[in-house]
Amino acid sequence: MHKLVTILFMTLIFASCGLKKQKHIQQKDGSRQFAISDPTFKSYAQSFTSYAKTYLNQPGFVIGDVPINFGDTENTSFDGVCNTYSDGTKEVIIKQSWWNSASVHQREVMIFHELGHCSLNRDHDSEIISKESYVVKGSIMNPVIPGSSHYLQYKTAYLTELFTYNKAPLQQAIGI
Ligand SMILES: [Zn+2]
Repeated sequence: MHKLVTILFMTLIFASCGLKKQKHIQQKDGSRQFAISDPTFKSYAQSFTSYAKTYLNQPGFVIGDVPINFGDTENTSFDGVCNTYSDGTKEVIIKQSWWNSASVHQREVMIFHELGHCSLNRDHDSEIISKESYVVKGSIMNPVIPGSSHYLQYKTAYLTELFTYNKAPLQQAIGI
């Protein structure tokens, strides 16, 4: 049991798109590595699109030209990254070793976070929402993504915030 707790703790610590004050959207010269997405990520991209249509009330929403693939994030602190290139192209790169050890829920939050950067043009949001000693990350766009238990508990509120920046549902859910 202790080992399981340790593993869960480590997963939370390392499920990171980036560290505070570090660049999470890497700007690079040249062109992206991949033209199309790895099929592994198809269902996640479809879910993101479906949620975007609902929460933005935009039936025609599309992610845009943002392939998602496994690769080198070029920073040991990054398990995923949105790269933007000087020729205007973008791509999401996910560290395969992280993916292989992550739950399906953490995978979803990670892909949604990176598409938050690459598709929604969102920046990081480190705001914490707390009531007394109870602390919750205020956004999927936190540089260290929310853990699975909070994500599942507040999924509707987190998706509302991701697409609309509105934190009121999350605040209401934790009783502020
Ligand atoms: Zn990020």
